Amino acid sequence: MKKTVLVTGASRGIGKSIAEKFLNEGYKVYGTYFSSFDKIEELQEKFGKENLIICGPYDFRKIEDTNKLVNDLAGIELDSIICNAGIFLENDDFLNFDYEIFNQTMNCNFYTPLLLATKLQNNIKNNGSIIIMSSNDAYNGAYGSMSYSISKAAVLNLTKCLCVNYGRRGIRVNSVAPGAINTDMNTPEQEFEAPQYTPIERIGQPDEVAEVVYFLTSSSSSFINGENITIDGGYGNVSVLLKNEVSRIREYKGYDYIYEKYKKMNEKDILLHISPCAPYTYIDNEEERTLLKENLSSEKNGATIYRILIVDKEREQELKNSNIVNEYFKGLQPGNKMYLVKKEDIIRVCPNDYQRVGLGYGIFNNNEAFVDSYSSNDSIGYRISGEKMVNPLVEAFNNILYNIENGNIRLI
Ligand code: NDP
Repeated sequence: MKKTVLVTGASRGIGKSIAEKFLNEGYKVYGTYFSSFDKIEELQEKFGKENLIICGPYDFRKIEDTNKLVNDLAGIELDSIICNAGIFLENDDFLNFDYEIFNQTMNCNFYTPLLLATKLQNNIKNNGSIIIMSSNDAYNGAYGSMSYSISKAAVLNLTKCLCVNYGRRGIRVNSVAPGAINTDMNTPEQEFEAPQYTPIERIGQPDEVAEVVYFLTSSSSSFINGENITIDGGYGNVSVLLKNEVSRIREYKGYDYIYEKYKKMNEKDILLHISPCAPYTYIDNEEERTLLKENLSSEKNGATIYRILIVDKEREQELKNSNIVNEYFKGLQPGNKMYLVKKEDIIRVCPNDYQRVGLGYGIFNNNEAFVDSYSSNDSIGYRISGEKMVNPLVEAFNNILYNIENGNIRLI
């Protein structure tokens, strides 16, 4: 016998992805729609009438429609119920609060899951599961969408109440709280600004929610019950204030910034550069080649440059064969320095200084440092300035340099 699942709001967005996931896993899906019959019909054409049973139309803003769904499902056994359908009505005006919007939102987002989960008690099989769609809006106070946030917070407790009551039948109840997901519900803020505050710098896709929902219904999550899983790429863990604070201290910059810096350097300037054996140290690409050209021309213009390259065993050969590294050596001007040293020697002689090297850094005139981080399109690292920030890096560099020049750290 095929397993069965009810997915509300299966016609679009996250619900559609959830329905597809279950269909691909061999389930029979009862999928509801409200206004997008053509879309759910498309899904049915793809998976077959015997596998996707279209239910509707139901407008869950009206309780009578939710009750109609309950009646329509009479006698149908379900392994899982996914309460996904939801509405988000923006601009709840705090001063002229619209109770109609509030009631509609609560009916669809809260009462419908409540009614389905309680009235379908006889439909859901023992050891089945229920998943309710919350949102990470449930965790904070909302300005213009209070009704939505309140409804999504309410389902968090509903999940717990259902979990304790259904437990004796082995039925597990959990919720998921997505962050910004790429669906029609997206606001411009979600689409364009959320990536800025999401650690993994993007919004989510509906199938990333569907995977978690499926997991929560499967035996892989057999001991998870009454819980809520946030699916937001880390968004909820960001303090906007602290992020802005650190971006004031650390200004992320791209290659262009460094090119310009090198172009302006002359005999008054000094650059200290230390780099661990990272692939970008000798990758022969256009950006690194331009960096090499500008760096060597600033050296020719009289700038003092000291470079230390830290080499680990695995990459020693790669480094020796690197065109970029060899060209740096060829362009070395009298009085300037470039040392290749073994990582293990630095760790042995200067362990604390090695900790500061990270992915490498360059210090301009002892008062401004550019700290390497992983390269992306618009940033290869960040700029810091001020004695408090830069001095520890200068000290670490000078200490390593001292130990190299006094023979405590061997040259390669
Ligand atoms: P979409 O707007 O893309 O899809 C909503 C789905 O719900 C559609 O299938 C729609 O059916 C159905 N629906 C909408 N209004 C009603 C109604 N009045 N009565 C019955 N069904 C209705 O939304 P998402 O896929 O983005 O959202 C799905 C769930 O995920 C919601 O509960 C939402 O609150 C939640 N969520 C979404 C986030 C996001 O960023 N997208 C973030 C956090 C939570 P039809 O098309 O047939 O009208």
